[in-house]
Amino acid sequence: MFSLPLASAAPAQPPRVSQAQAFGLSPSELKALGVPAPEATFERLHRPWTWQAGAPLVSRGARAELEARGLQLPELVERHASADGSTKLLLSFAGERVEAVHMPRAVAGGRVTLCISSQVGCAMGCTFCATASMGFHRHLSAGEIVAQVLSVVAELGPRHPSELTLVFMGMGEPLHNLSEVRRAVALLCEPRGLGLSPRRITVSTSGLVPEIRELGLTAPRPLLALSLNATTDEVRRELMPIGRRFPLAELRAALSEYPLRPRERITVEYVLLSGVNDSVEDAARLSEFCDAFRHNVNLIPFNEHSLAPYRAPEERDVDAFARALLARKPTLVTVRRSRGRDVQAACGQLVQS
Ligand code: SF4
Repeated sequence: MFSLPLASAAPAQPPRVSQAQAFGLSPSELKALGVPAPEATFERLHRPWTWQAGAPLVSRGARAELEARGLQLPELVERHASADGSTKLLLSFAGERVEAVHMPRAVAGGRVTLCISSQVGCAMGCTFCATASMGFHRHLSAGEIVAQVLSVVAELGPRHPSELTLVFMGMGEPLHNLSEVRRAVALLCEPRGLGLSPRRITVSTSGLVPEIRELGLTAPRPLLALSLNATTDEVRRELMPIGRRFPLAELRAALSEYPLRPRERITVEYVLLSGVNDSVEDAARLSEFCDAFRHNVNLIPFNEHSLAPYRAPEERDVDAFARALLARKPTLVTVRRSRGRDVQAACGQLVQS
């Protein structure tokens, strides 16, 4: 499926690869690179339950080959446990830091949702988001994204892939880094590795229309979430600069043409900012926007932080908004009570310190 520049007849230096690239290679690519026992090596790399002392147990021969290509796990720099059971992890890839949030589900045994990053920083500049204040540093490679997932699972679980749900909602705009995210998703779904179902992986975008269309053609294809946050172009342009490139009508058209599978829905995320986008008129426009495609709505009361001038809505305003939405049309509406607020791990609070 993947194409790598293969060495020509002349013996060559190992191909140049980026950080953690060994975790970004499929079994057939490991084989093409001459790594001994490629399938068994892939399994040992990608099944964190078999690791020892936080690292995969690969054969000596395979290790030498892989280390020449960058067998590197992120360094766990900081770990902050929240009172609600979630843990924010600060991970370093050669000094560049990203964050991941591990959230055990209290009501579902060993189930865990893991929120991961796709970039260091973010170029999108959403005015309510702490990550935006960092600016854009760089994309993560597929290998780094996969290594991020594996190292957190090795550290904190779960013990089985059927208990793991992944959301690309940490640092970065995953569709700005679509080729590496797509490759990472394929590796995470590889049956000889973690073997995740693509329906247990959600990619959240701020609304990059051409990339949404491209994602629709991807296999394996993760679930799609849209971070909408406004119901008029004027307010969206103010909150999310990407709204200047893609007006709501264009975004809505792309979503209405998105090839949903049976029972699949697009999650529309809506951060409620007091006095900005939380009126009952907004609720009516939100309902109308979503009419064009199968969806569920996730309302996220804003988590206040010092890097944005907005205020959290009152509880009664959140309830009024949800009720106004439901009054328009029966739909699936959830209110996300953010996890990890006390350790700045909640939605929109991830920023490198
Ligand atoms: S909300 Fe998402 S897309 Fe917008 S700046 Fe933050 S990380 Fe980037």
